[in-house]
Amino acid sequence: MKFRVIPVTQFQQNCTLCWCEETKRAAIIDPGGDIAKIEAAIKEEGLVLDKVLLTHAHIDHAGGTAELSSRFNVPIEGPHKGDLFWIEGLAKQSEMFGFPKVETFRPTRWLDDGDQVEVGNQVLDVLHCPGHTPGHVVFFHQASATAQVGDVIFQGSIGRTDFPGGNHQELIRSIREKLFPLGDQVEFIPGHGPASTFGYERQTNPFVSDRRG
Ligand SMILES: [Zn+2]
Ligand SMILES: [Zn+2]
Repeated sequence: MKFRVIPVTQFQQNCTLCWCEETKRAAIIDPGGDIAKIEAAIKEEGLVLDKVLLTHAHIDHAGGTAELSSRFNVPIEGPHKGDLFWIEGLAKQSEMFGFPKVETFRPTRWLDDGDQVEVGNQVLDVLHCPGHTPGHVVFFHQASATAQVGDVIFQGSIGRTDFPGGNHQELIRSIREKLFPLGDQVEFIPGHGPASTFGYERQTNPFVSDRRG
């Protein structure tokens, strides 16, 4: 499986194009906006878009979902249904953050912990990781040891928990009990900023390192 990060919106959110190299079937994870940029990347790589995947429903991650899914006529998988109130509030979010007006949508499939998502011949495991939002999920590709973690953890930091439905303790638990056990060598692509590995964060991240007890 291959991954290409496409920074979108004024928040430079790491929208990710991922695809199966055998079949050239692709998924877009977190299309926050800038649909033309996303479309260009799909075309450039010569891929067929099969689905939209969402880690959570904040506008910088989900704002372009309705437009992209209707333009390519593809289903929307994720996030977990705990984020329904964020999806219903997308219009309000767009006003609040000065985004272009967005359409709301209904996921074709809500995701739950332990679910799997197919992209061509490849499989992504779904981990429910609440804390930043109640319905946040992480996509993990075992074969390449790569995780798409949205706003759960960043290089040197963790997701905000001061939004409605946020929960700091829950976020810490999600990181320590669900993500770190995937393995030190696992590389993760966060919703913002550079990639890192769980091993590096276990040593150095001031919020969740092993030293923090
Ligand atoms: Zn977020
Ligand atoms: Zn974000």
